[in-house]
Amino acid sequence: MDPVGIAATAVPDAGPGPGWQSKCPWGAPKTASISCSLAEVMSEQLAKELQLEEENAAFPEVVAVAEGPFITGENIDTSSDLMLAQMLQMEFDREYDAQLRREEKKFNGDSKVSISFENYRKVHPFDSDSSEDEVDWQDTRHDPYRADKPTTTPKKGFIGKGKDITTKHDEVVCGRKNTARMENFAPGFQVGDGIGMDLKLSNQVFNALKQHAYSEERRSARLHEKKEHSTAEKAVDPKTRLLLYKMVNAGMLETITGCISTGKESVVFHAYGGNATEDDKVIPPECAIKVFKTTLNEFKNRDKYIKDDYRFKDRFSKLNPRKIIRMWAEKEMHNLTRMQNAGIPCPQVVILKKHILVMSFIGQDQVPAPKLKDVKLNSEDMKKAYYQILDMMQRLYKECKLVHADLSEYNMLWHDGKVWLIDVSQSVEPTHPHGLEFLFRDCRNVSQFFQKAGVAEALNERELFNAVSGLNITADNEVDFQEEIEALEKINEDHVQNHGKKVSTFSSDGDPPIYDE
Ligand code: ADP
Ligand code: MN
Repeated sequence: MDPVGIAATAVPDAGPGPGWQSKCPWGAPKTASISCSLAEVMSEQLAKELQLEEENAAFPEVVAVAEGPFITGENIDTSSDLMLAQMLQMEFDREYDAQLRREEKKFNGDSKVSISFENYRKVHPFDSDSSEDEVDWQDTRHDPYRADKPTTTPKKGFIGKGKDITTKHDEVVCGRKNTARMENFAPGFQVGDGIGMDLKLSNQVFNALKQHAYSEERRSARLHEKKEHSTAEKAVDPKTRLLLYKMVNAGMLETITGCISTGKESVVFHAYGGNATEDDKVIPPECAIKVFKTTLNEFKNRDKYIKDDYRFKDRFSKLNPRKIIRMWAEKEMHNLTRMQNAGIPCPQVVILKKHILVMSFIGQDQVPAPKLKDVKLNSEDMKKAYYQILDMMQRLYKECKLVHADLSEYNMLWHDGKVWLIDVSQSVEPTHPHGLEFLFRDCRNVSQFFQKAGVAEALNERELFNAVSGLNITADNEVDFQEEIEALEKINEDHVQNHGKKVSTFSSDGDPPIYDE
């Protein structure tokens, strides 16, 4: 058995609750220009939008009929029934695939776990770059479809006698030969049942078909490569796999059952806890394993979050990218521990091994608790959730000295009649150079969500910001409010520049900031 391998397959049942198949609330992106300020780099909504956009670009709704010798220009040969049939079949297959793609999209909706219908496709998507490696079909020296034992034409170039003489240029002979050679096309290339009948394929048609078969095969190979690559990436690399096996071997984990979520920066698995104890801690019966992706590109954008975090500042410059990824996992661990100590409902850390963070599973029987965005709460529970979050945000700020920095209905789970906070690898201290901006964004998300959900008591984003931070920013519009926030951040930054130390807390009512001694 290969539990980790299995884990690569998304489990449809494990998907989030009722919103699972619903339509993407963000809709199709309206414009190509999505602002991407630093403050938004971490936003899950933004990530989702960008992903959708990418997908739309990769698989346009209306599949353009591919251009090629097969169907365009002078090479059109409609005299052959087979060719016509092939063309129609191609048309049909493309239609079918386009429909499949629409269904795939509808099925997956905006869920993080997606099911691929790839294997059901008839033809492979036509890569835009396919023209560059199109072969010269007249180059017969490298004909990959040449029959192993080509039927020889006699040296003299003709057979028969008198009026029965047939030359090597004879249409009928050549046509039959061409039809027979179709058998040498790549397996899986549909040539119809022409081989079995007395079909005479003209050289022109045969060559066009041959070239098409060849480029189809190459496309298929390329697609396969890509597919394998991405599957491996979605699951885990061999090093991660080894670490996971070690955890199972050590009895820390019983079994790794499957994948809960594949995000841009992490893959989350479900596992049953083992019997071993780690530092006298009992392993929870069900665990979530968050594997931070070691493909670096997604993390480049996040450098600033950690670089400017004074807790990691000294270490940052000395680290290679692989270690920086471990630091994200480490950061999540530290932040979760702080939260746990402050009594905020959140996953409990089990163990950290390099870029793998094992924590308690929020949910039951392999089914993760639904995100707040997916759960339908009655108005009473919704109100309860709101007050709970208000309290959690305050405690997070004051007791944990943290700003979540990606707080939204996407990172709050509803479990056991209360809200649980997750996904805190990017959380920063309030005195982070952009900490207050992150807090303001968090407040906007929370306040908008609850106002839309009909919680009349929900504070607006500015009131919420003041309630959480204890600051008293009086600006009554967003622009001025944000300016004041940035001014406060600047005071802190200047102080760091001049005194080499940070402001420990921001004070309210315009009193001078309190500094660390
Ligand atoms: P990402 O950075 O990919 O958003 P998250 O920490 O938010 O990473 O995890 C992704 C998803 O995995 C979450 O939305 C949640 O559904 C699930 N998940 C993560 N941690 C847990 C956990 N401890 N228990 C249950 N589900 C979890
Ligand atoms: Mn998340």
